[in-house]
Amino acid sequence: MALIVHKYGGTSVGSTERIKNVARRVAKWHAAGHKMVVVPSAMSGETNRLLGLAKELSARPDPRELDVIAATGEQVTIGLLAIALMELGLKARSYTGAQVKVLTDSAYTKARIMDIDDRSIRADLDRGMVVVVAGFQGMDEAGNITTLGRGGSDTSAVALAAALKADECLIYTDVDGVYTTDPRIVEDARRLRTVTFEEMLEMASLGSKVLQIRSVEFAGKYKVPLRVLSSLTDPMMPIAEEAASGTLITFEEDQKMEQAVISGIAFNRDEAKITVMGVPDRPGIAYQILGPIGDANIDVDMIIQNASVGGLTDFSFTVNRAEYPKALEVLNSKVKGAINAAEIRGDDKVCKVSMVGVGMRTHAGIASQMFRTLSEEGINIQMISTSEIKISVVIDDKYMELAVRALHNAFGLDQAS
Ligand code: ADP
Ligand code: ASP
Ligand code: MG
Repeated sequence: MALIVHKYGGTSVGSTERIKNVARRVAKWHAAGHKMVVVPSAMSGETNRLLGLAKELSARPDPRELDVIAATGEQVTIGLLAIALMELGLKARSYTGAQVKVLTDSAYTKARIMDIDDRSIRADLDRGMVVVVAGFQGMDEAGNITTLGRGGSDTSAVALAAALKADECLIYTDVDGVYTTDPRIVEDARRLRTVTFEEMLEMASLGSKVLQIRSVEFAGKYKVPLRVLSSLTDPMMPIAEEAASGTLITFEEDQKMEQAVISGIAFNRDEAKITVMGVPDRPGIAYQILGPIGDANIDVDMIIQNASVGGLTDFSFTVNRAEYPKALEVLNSKVKGAINAAEIRGDDKVCKVSMVGVGMRTHAGIASQMFRTLSEEGINIQMISTSEIKISVVIDDKYMELAVRALHNAFGLDQAS
């Protein structure tokens, strides 16, 4: 008998028919003798709808109230799923994040989980119940409802699996695993049977939204066995077959020895580039530019400083597109005059395309092949950043899909390895 956590995304619980299927699948696992905890997201489109209602009332809705509103999406699906399970003759009980106590900090709309009180869940499991816990939400010390950021149900599920020391956390979604790139962009994208935890972390942080990055961080920190698989298969398929399907996130690099150098291509449209032109090239200049940006709570991603000409240089960096107007405002009001910069330029029509693979550690020439492929397509590279297992470039966002397809093809990612 194992303790298993299932997580079902929005599409997987997108209608009462789909919720019935989830209940049948969970009942099958329960009948096989497993203790089951199930974490659903809100029905697909529901979180957007709820947040949209708030935006109809205010251009900048209060974040605490946004969380109060957004958390209701998952409150509906936990109740529906518990009822569907009971209809199948199972004992089931739903919990909101606050009822469990999923304790978070108070950073509304992007709260972090600090602790999970697993006592009620364990007691219910011991009584043979299926426990259904709302994803995406928690409660801070003061009892305020919080949410964990978009896609946060993945993190709820993995954090619960870690707290309960579950044998496995299965993330059921609308694709049958992690692909070499988003299958919605590249038709020939291929499912990976395994991907290392490190690669998954890079892919998630570089824009692959199949898993929220914090869920991967949790899985790594607490060594939670994690698998991504489809919820759209026959719910009554044999468990052994289902348990081996999808993509396993592995901690063992050697398990993938025979696989390709590049595992996947990630992309992110939420990027904006800012250049501070004609700044004096002297010690402390990076701090004078980026200090006020950090103080305004704006995360900076890539940074480039050009060689100086006549004592002046240009300094470029990227920020999340949503924070672009705020970053420009900070630079114009607090930085430009203070450092005597000639001009602040910005471009919010850029994107980042990244290639990820642990095989890069032992293979040279990946970067040059990437740059050649992009140049053959006439795509200009604006910024580059590398680490041991990834290369990212910033390009004009109108070329994003072309770049991803060309790289996928050039590196033979559609070919089975
Ligand atoms: P859920 O609602 O189940 O959490 P998401 O929409 O958050 O589902 O994540 C699944 C989606 O992630 C897929 O439909 C797919 O379009 C997208 N995706 C992006 N990159 C990848 C990738 N490398 N592999 C698989 N899916 C990906
Ligand atoms: N319902 C939330 C969202 O849409 C959480 C999730 O789906 O994981 O972002
Ligand atoms: Mg998701």
